[in-house]
Amino acid sequence: MSHPTDADCIFCKIVAGQIPCFKLLEDERTIAFMDINPVNPGHALAVAKGHWPTVDVIPTEVLGAVAATAQRVAKAVITALEPGGVNLLQANGPGAGQSVPHLHIHVMPRRPGDAVALNWDYVPGDRAEIEAVYRRLKAVL
Ligand code: 5GP
Ligand code: ZN
Repeated sequence: MSHPTDADCIFCKIVAGQIPCFKLLEDERTIAFMDINPVNPGHALAVAKGHWPTVDVIPTEVLGAVAATAQRVAKAVITALEPGGVNLLQANGPGAGQSVPHLHIHVMPRRPGDAVALNWDYVPGDRAEIEAVYRRLKAVL
């Protein structure tokens, strides 16, 4: 399926396979992969394949597909990691803390007392740790 792209967009490059990722799943309109700056182990992103920056411009059916992908990933997180809870979070515009203007839904495992804020600092995760939790999620997808 053809979709809009932006040659300068990091997520478009991941969708195109030009930048590697720990890919959890992929379908016609969406992709899901591990976040490289996880707030907690298992932090993943459900991403539209097309380059639509925000909720107000993405086609409704594509947003629905991204939500469905986020649900699949959340189920895997719940099954494999048994976190204290899960937040789904989607930011629109820099004022809302959006840093990558390509629509995505965060799937954020939570644990009591982790003090994750609505807008959080990006701290690079350890690649081996991200890969290890990625394998646990892949095993239940
Ligand atoms: P936003 O701030 O737009 O809501 O979220 C963007 C997310 O993308 C951040 O959590 C950030 O860690 C993640 N991110 C940024 N660049 C990359 C990348 O190159 N690879 C992956 N896997 N995640 C990225
Ligand atoms: Zn993009």
